[in-house]
Amino acid sequence: MAGAEEKEPENIVHRNAIFCETIHKEQRDQKLYTSYGVNPYKKMHVVAGKPNSPHDSADAAEDGEARYEFLQTYRKAQGTPRSRYSYPQTEAQEIGWDTKPLMGVLRALLLLLVAAAASAALVKRQDSEEAIVYKLFHVDSLVVSRYAVTSITSVVQNSDPEQSKELEFRMQLPETAFISNFSMSVNGRTYYGVAKEKAEAEQEFEERISAGENAGLVQSRGSEVFSIRINTAADSEATFVLKYEELIVRRRSKYSYRVNLNPGSVVDDFQARVRVVDPQGVVETAASDFVLSQRLSDTEVVFSYQPSADQQREDSAKYGLGRDLDIEFDVTPTSVSVGEFVVDSNCYFAQFFSKTGAEAVPVDLVFVIDVSGSMSGTKITQTRDALETIINQLRDTDRFTMLTFSTNVRYWHEDLVSASEYRLEGVMFAQSLQASGSTNFNAGLLDGIAVLKRRDESASQGRIPLLVMLTDGAPTVGVTNEDKIVANAGEALTGTSISLNCLGFGQNLNFQLLERLALQNDGIVRTIYEGDDAAEQLEGFFDEISTPVLQNIKISYDENSVKTSSATEFPLLFEGGEIVVAGQCNKDTQNIDVEVVGTGTDGQVSFTAEISTNPTSIVGDYSPSTERLQAHLLIQQLLNSRLASTNQSEINANLQKALDLSLKYNFVTELTSLIVVEEIPEIGSGPGNEPRAGNETLIGGGNDFGDKEDSVSSPVTMDSGAEASVGALPVILSVSLLVLIVSAIVAVALAAVFIKRRRATHQRLNDSVTPQQCIEKDTVI
Ligand SMILES: [Mg+2]
Repeated sequence: MAGAEEKEPENIVHRNAIFCETIHKEQRDQKLYTSYGVNPYKKMHVVAGKPNSPHDSADAAEDGEARYEFLQTYRKAQGTPRSRYSYPQTEAQEIGWDTKPLMGVLRALLLLLVAAAASAALVKRQDSEEAIVYKLFHVDSLVVSRYAVTSITSVVQNSDPEQSKELEFRMQLPETAFISNFSMSVNGRTYYGVAKEKAEAEQEFEERISAGENAGLVQSRGSEVFSIRINTAADSEATFVLKYEELIVRRRSKYSYRVNLNPGSVVDDFQARVRVVDPQGVVETAASDFVLSQRLSDTEVVFSYQPSADQQREDSAKYGLGRDLDIEFDVTPTSVSVGEFVVDSNCYFAQFFSKTGAEAVPVDLVFVIDVSGSMSGTKITQTRDALETIINQLRDTDRFTMLTFSTNVRYWHEDLVSASEYRLEGVMFAQSLQASGSTNFNAGLLDGIAVLKRRDESASQGRIPLLVMLTDGAPTVGVTNEDKIVANAGEALTGTSISLNCLGFGQNLNFQLLERLALQNDGIVRTIYEGDDAAEQLEGFFDEISTPVLQNIKISYDENSVKTSSATEFPLLFEGGEIVVAGQCNKDTQNIDVEVVGTGTDGQVSFTAEISTNPTSIVGDYSPSTERLQAHLLIQQLLNSRLASTNQSEINANLQKALDLSLKYNFVTELTSLIVVEEIPEIGSGPGNEPRAGNETLIGGGNDFGDKEDSVSSPVTMDSGAEASVGALPVILSVSLLVLIVSAIVAVALAAVFIKRRRATHQRLNDSVTPQQCIEKDTVI
């Protein structure tokens, strides 16, 4: 036998090569598995090259090639459609569309253009603001016998030679002031204000506007900002004159007058002048440190402020625009027991009665504190501070207690305790207050009144009962009807001398409820604003409510000599305060018999005097505005009586009287508006006689602060929308133009890219291999 073929010797080199190859393969597989988390031996799910079509190379993964294709397909899966496929996948791609973001250069270009547009608009706006020049700001105020008439004149220029501009006049008004006139001169036309009944004024305003005429409406919204905007032609100026009147009230032995100086910008001609004249003699004057005061005589002092433009810049950097000019003064006390009388030539008189040197009467004070959930946050913090402030001001002879209400009422001490012994404990209790629960306003109020009503009669002799309510005035449980609450309080307080005072907290304060309660029950109401320190805001509050020198004051004149007068009965006169009555006496009367009766610490007191009706002589050409003062007082009292009364026919009668007076004296009150109409000059006289067509002037009254939803009035402007759009028109046009240019450039750039891509696509389609070859090339997971 040939025997077995001899075994060929092993090719070691070949075997090593196989080993090496095996090791390499294992290493590659391991790398794939560990690096990419994919098992290369597992059959891959193959997606068709084109959507929803089977793939010819679906089984390719079974052979070794799949392992090599993996990385390729993996990478392609990360790419954009264009890099994943060598041919278009959709019709959109076919015509050149790509999901890739805009090219970097294009994006940068677009950003650049947008930035350029924005800065151009900004520059334009700055230009626009620079074109408005505040030329003049004059404040002239004359305070004769405590009645102040303040006139503000402002001249604003649109110095842009080409464009019309919107100019604005703004003024912060005191709370108790009535606007009595507003006029302006713009684009050669003069406008003036006439007081009309609110609805009538609104109707006339609408009619004038729809007839294409220019008109404006000025309405009262209390102590807020008066603002009016008008559109002026290119290179023209507007002159605004606003006049308002107020009675300067005496508190804590001084009269305080304040006027807000805000010209809107630095002005070349800035001047503020306040002249205080009083026939009794002006004494103890004080003013803001930047004000110059000059005493012209015993009865006349002038306060002035006339800063240069540089000084205004310096001041506005330190204090901002819009400083308050404060003036304080007092008048020499009269020797007449019934107070000072000022009479004018029409027999209108004003009586100013005050009493000094009275001993402070001890008070019995009950705090009724709202600790409901709505008081949480700043309100409860301010409440704690307010309480601490007042408790620390109590005199040792005073008595007090506190009760809190939320869902239920809680007492600190059920009866009044001595301030000297319990002051510290009271402060600690006040500081421990926390807010939670509902608001049982009615229960808190009635329980507080009950504490004062059940005082021991002999121990409370000669003490003033006071109730101070600290709340945001939003009842939620128990009696929630406000009319019912006011009626309940009135009923509980009938026949008592308790005065109900309210401190209102918070931005959403129900001020009206507190005002009704306080006015109906001989108290005062004060708002504590969230932004400021509560203790500071309470300055003088306790003095005001706690140091009555006389109670139940009644002033009477002999019937034959006095025709009309404002209210003559007052619940309290506080130390350093003053009672003001104004009226008119009969012309043939030579003297008025006056009697003032009240209850002081030592029982009833009475003062009588015979007053001459000869006009009061005042140095200089000044005459007292007693007639207007009487109207001012009467209107305020009639309006307040509406809040205190529940008799509807009486309310209506009072409102009618208040309306008649407001119209007669041209006052802007809650019942009236000032309709601003164009003055029609006589034919052929001056530039105002040009045709109305094409007139650009717009007038509007606006109010920027304290938008109350339930406000009885809202400043109606002459189509404020149109006003705003007309004013902003140049800016809008320039921005629109820029946007248009940018859009055009972007469109051209996009079109260029589109054409280029389309060409490239067609080229690729022409150059590409057959679809079958394409499919074979491209596999994605
Ligand atoms: Mg509440």
